[in-house]
Amino acid sequence: MAGEVSKKIAHFEFITKEKNIYHPFVVFNNDAAIVSPEDIRRKWAIIAGRNRSRYISLYIHIPYCRNKKCNYCMYGSRIMKAQSELDCYLDYLNDTLEYFDTAFHGYEFANMHIGGGTPTLLDNSQLTRLFGLLAGRCSFRNNAMQTFEVSPSSVTRRKLATARGFGINRISIGAQSFNREALKQARRNYVPFENFEKLCGEIDGLGFETVNVDLIGGLPGDTPGEFRESFIKAASLGPSTITIYFFRFENSRYSKDVRSKAGYGWGEGAIRTFMDAVYDTAVTLDYVNESYSTERLYNVFARSDYVNRFEGYATRWEPGLSNSCFGVGIGARSFILDVVDIYDKGVHSLARYSFDEALKPENLSFGNTRYLVHFFDNRTRITNYFLREMYVNKSVSINSIKRIYKVDLTEYFREAFDVLSGLGKLSIENDRVSFVVKNEVEWGVYSKFFYDPETIERMTKSKPAERYISS
Ligand code: SF4
Repeated sequence: MAGEVSKKIAHFEFITKEKNIYHPFVVFNNDAAIVSPEDIRRKWAIIAGRNRSRYISLYIHIPYCRNKKCNYCMYGSRIMKAQSELDCYLDYLNDTLEYFDTAFHGYEFANMHIGGGTPTLLDNSQLTRLFGLLAGRCSFRNNAMQTFEVSPSSVTRRKLATARGFGINRISIGAQSFNREALKQARRNYVPFENFEKLCGEIDGLGFETVNVDLIGGLPGDTPGEFRESFIKAASLGPSTITIYFFRFENSRYSKDVRSKAGYGWGEGAIRTFMDAVYDTAVTLDYVNESYSTERLYNVFARSDYVNRFEGYATRWEPGLSNSCFGVGIGARSFILDVVDIYDKGVHSLARYSFDEALKPENLSFGNTRYLVHFFDNRTRITNYFLREMYVNKSVSINSIKRIYKVDLTEYFREAFDVLSGLGKLSIENDRVSFVVKNEVEWGVYSKFFYDPETIERMTKSKPAERYISS
């Protein structure tokens, strides 16, 4: 028995670290199926119609990139061969929004994120068209955060002004690194720092409320010291937030040779080194990270006058918000919290799914679109709810679960409760259950004791690209 438990712990540690699944409830569910738009529309009509105050975000996906794919990037996109391809894609977005119009009629989205790919590849008239489509079909709450991702190599003042005119109030700049060598190894174009300064001046002048700069920690060719330099440069631009994503070799395009030469693999150690390199500097530069965690996929540093105003991304699960997300565009992920995950797969007849194929102008027809969905069964729903509460509120009331799901947790999870209590990793006091863990890796490991073997098996096999299909 003890041997079996140790084996499980080792296996769960592997899934947690190597597969990067720390919080199974965010990414995991069961029962995949291919369904028609009609089924999806019916679901959204129920969700958006039933409770107008429910928090639903809108995500618009522009899955095109210029020239070449960056080596670190795991998102699906097509290299744009002609500007006219984006006209075809806008037709597709138009048809999608038109189709779902009845489901969201009268609903006000809580926030919006336009991401990709590279949304600023749209030229100004295409951008004007996109905002026209959105203005005609979508409504937003008064305080909605509306984000536009910009790439310094393709954004112009005119495009920014168009976005501001529509009501975009948050700009997210994909800098990733200011280290020329790291960018070279990533096959990403180097943009002189003066261009970022000019861009931020224009953003300021146009009155955007919030500016974010994205950086990636741990890129091949970068060092913790150089990463600190990138952070200092990013902070000198004065953004409201700096988001640090953590590089992972898994699913990247770097060669095996680079991987072996890099001297550090993706993992807790590398992330910690890069986070440690910037943490004190961030504080002296007046950027605060209240939830410093080396195990997350990303960390957000907020300027001290901006703390608590960060609303998160459209597709991110936000504690306490019961956030659902309607994703529009090929590769976009939608989710109805605890009910279903939905991926727009475009042309469904392709034997082997490829973004590049699905995005070819001749395949872009909403009439052919099918969605890949993952439904949540009752057990997954209860498990997800239980673990999410454990994560957010640090403990769970046995009675509250009994009230909501009509199950007695101590019976329902008897085996996991016995094993973890025996290991001293779970505490049950009166009505409340909580984990006794030292860090997020342990959290990731012991939370997996609550999933059934088939679910764990699927976690072992899942690829990040399946989970992070859109940004
Ligand atoms: S990082 Fe951006 S530009 Fe580079 S491949 Fe990914 S989506 Fe394209």
